[in-house]
Amino acid sequence: MMLLDYMKKYCPEAVIRRNVSLDKYTTLRVGGPADYFAEPENELTLCNMLKAARETDTPVLLIGNGSNLLVRDGGFQGLVIRLGKKFSAIEKRDNGLYAQSGALMSALAKEALRYAYTGLEFAQGIPGTVGGGVYMNAGAYGGEMAQVIESLRILDGEEIREIPAEEMAFSYRHTKAMDEKWIVLGAAFRLELGDPKEIDEKMQDLALRRKTKQPLEYPSAGSFFKRPAGYFAGALIEQSNLKGVSVGGAQVSEKHAGFLINTGNATASDFLGLMKKVQDTVWEKFGVHMENEVRIVGNEK
Ligand SMILES: Cc1cc2nc3c(=O)[nH]c(=O)nc-3n(C[C@H](O)[C@H](O)[C@H](O)COP(=O)(O)OP(=O)(O)OC[C@H]3O[C@@H](n4cnc5c(N)ncnc54)[C@H](O)[C@@H]3O)c2cc1C
Repeated sequence: MMLLDYMKKYCPEAVIRRNVSLDKYTTLRVGGPADYFAEPENELTLCNMLKAARETDTPVLLIGNGSNLLVRDGGFQGLVIRLGKKFSAIEKRDNGLYAQSGALMSALAKEALRYAYTGLEFAQGIPGTVGGGVYMNAGAYGGEMAQVIESLRILDGEEIREIPAEEMAFSYRHTKAMDEKWIVLGAAFRLELGDPKEIDEKMQDLALRRKTKQPLEYPSAGSFFKRPAGYFAGALIEQSNLKGVSVGGAQVSEKHAGFLINTGNATASDFLGLMKKVQDTVWEKFGVHMENEVRIVGNEK
């Protein structure tokens, strides 16, 4: 039997689309098609989809808002599962909030403000989902997910488990979910009550700082590279005279050298070419390896 037969058997409610171009689902706006594409509305459907994929040996790629993702031009030969709008409930708890993985971090920060919870101001301008943010240990302006997460709901193989935050072994843009291939279903955030005016002002201040410093007017994936120990990625790139350098439609941003932007018609291979150029040049000049923060997935064309 084929994947779609198993899908009909295990989750007849699921809508599975074929040959879905992934450029629409990544903020870099590049990437080839997914053979199969689905947006499950709840945990049960997600689990049943994964079961169908397992039984047919179909590779699976789970995505959130695609804001840290470079999908190669050949697309993904398998099933892409996007946790989005329908998997995005946020609820208030006694000492914070619980969010399903598909909730946007901006929506989570907004809810925190609504309940006068402080601690999530940093997350307001990160354009990813809670699941992607937890998986990446996203952070900004001195805050990161690790500081505010109390516990997690994960899918470990076929088993759903609740784990304390410590089990996630958070470090700089790295978590145990990456090593163990856990799927993050949701997260409980432990937050203190604060002054809503101060929380709001801090969020607005950080939003303004982003707007001034980052090329938000172009498609990008945020900082393309991790911060090498002891350096700033953007400064190393700038000092290597790479600002404005392009490969095809991919360009090192003039505004913030840590951002690689799509100036219009970039392909994934343009971004891969530019990434290599940056890595080689910085290596030659400073002997520092620039590791990509952006996750690179899919097949060459
Ligand atoms: C303009 C801009 C600014 C940015 N600023 C910041 C910043 O300040 N700080 C920062 O840290 N990042 C920043 N980013 C990068 C990005 O927003 C974060 O890494 C974000 O956490 C990615 O979330 P996502 O939902 O988009 O994940 P995706 O890009 O969809 O996926 C990223 C990775 O997470 C995995 N994943 C996604 N969801 C799950 C899940 N539920 N369970 C398991 N794995 C999952 C995917 O398989 C993939 O490997 C920025 C990006 C942009 C475009």
